[in-house]
Amino acid sequence: MDFSWSDGDLALREAIVKFAARELNEGLVERDRKGEFSHEGWQKCAEFGIQGLPIPEEYGGRGVDILTTILALEALGYGCRDNGLHFAIAAHMLSCEVPIWKFGSDEQKRRYLPKLCSGEWIGVHAMTEPDSGSDAFAMQTRAERKGDRYVLNGRKTFITSAPVADLLLIFASLDPTKGARGITAFLVEKGTPGLVVGREFEKMGLRTSPMGELVLEDCEVSAGQLLGKEGAGAAIFNTSMEWERSCIVASQVGAMERQLERCVRYARERRQFGKPIGKFEAISDKLAEMKVRLETARLLVYKVGWLKRHGKQAALEAAMAKLYVSECCVKSNLDAVQIHGGYGYMTEFELERELRDSIAGTIYSGTSEIQRLIIAGCLGV
Ligand SMILES: Cc1cc2nc3c(=O)[nH]c(=O)nc-3n(C[C@H](O)[C@H](O)[C@H](O)COP(=O)(O)OP(=O)(O)OC[C@H]3O[C@@H](n4cnc5c(N)ncnc54)[C@H](O)[C@@H]3O)c2cc1C
Repeated sequence: MDFSWSDGDLALREAIVKFAARELNEGLVERDRKGEFSHEGWQKCAEFGIQGLPIPEEYGGRGVDILTTILALEALGYGCRDNGLHFAIAAHMLSCEVPIWKFGSDEQKRRYLPKLCSGEWIGVHAMTEPDSGSDAFAMQTRAERKGDRYVLNGRKTFITSAPVADLLLIFASLDPTKGARGITAFLVEKGTPGLVVGREFEKMGLRTSPMGELVLEDCEVSAGQLLGKEGAGAAIFNTSMEWERSCIVASQVGAMERQLERCVRYARERRQFGKPIGKFEAISDKLAEMKVRLETARLLVYKVGWLKRHGKQAALEAAMAKLYVSECCVKSNLDAVQIHGGYGYMTEFELERELRDSIAGTIYSGTSEIQRLIIAGCLGV
């Protein structure tokens, strides 16, 4: 594997770090407290070209490959402390744009991708339901074919960006007796009669990323809103989950690097018992563990990107990266709070927010337990 970056990649990385640090962090403590999404930050990122990173230029994207997308998202996570914002962007990119790019008709790609890449529209991916999360294909949402139209009925929950969505990728079952082979994907535009955006959730972390429920009540869409073929929903879902598991944790790697640098600075500056706390082995051990977690996490994510860049299967590696990075991120955030003592516990120091934000990583895109099942399954267990 060769992870030496081109000059173009390194320039992109540096530009994103500088842009993010300069433009995206102001007022974050207050936005987190209020649970407020930054439309302004969203639009600035879109103008920079973040939302369209992997999408071909002919559809309004930047056309970079997956490994460069990973590097760019890592840079965003490093420069932007608003973890909710870069989470919302990654969800929009990886679980709405990518499925349209990979499975959409030419007409769908031309209609939707330019608006999604430019940030004008916000896309969501709606799979989870009140009674089916990990067991996603056990969904209750139904699609019924009526002539050349489909009627959708059901309820979706925990949907990132639902309260601000313009385009919704919604999964429904056309035929429950077929299980996963009955799952079908639909592109539903905001304002479609029968599509109701339900309540917005208040949550522990990633509070600047809005999340809500969706209700479908005889929501009628045309055959042109079908993404892929009837029954292709499971394949579409699996493809987008592999992209999401590969890339979404890249921002967490960037955030872990940012945290480590901050902790090292603090351990050198903060003095107790007449010396910097970094001179106490209990503290320097934590910093060493954080560094090892950061580098091993980064290597796993780059490996997934490298495999996919070369057109190889990466389901196992993506599950390992998702599991490992998200769990390392929580552990390192706990260490960061501990290293900062009482200051680490105070909201204004933003370390408690980083910890709250990081916990979501072990739940979204398949929980840690589900990643372990996937990994064991790949081992033949
Ligand atoms: C921040 C955030 C953003 C999200 N965004 C979206 C989104 O945009 N779109 C969307 O569709 N969904 C989204 N989700 C939902 C997410 O995908 C689900 O929460 C997740 O898949 C788990 O489903 P569940 O919450 O129903 O938990 P459950 O599946 O009920 O799981 C409960 C517990 O049981 C464990 N468990 C379940 N089955 C097994 C098993 N077979 N073996 C061992 N343990 C098991 C789980 O790991 C978990 O610990 C989001 C969630 C979060 C937290």
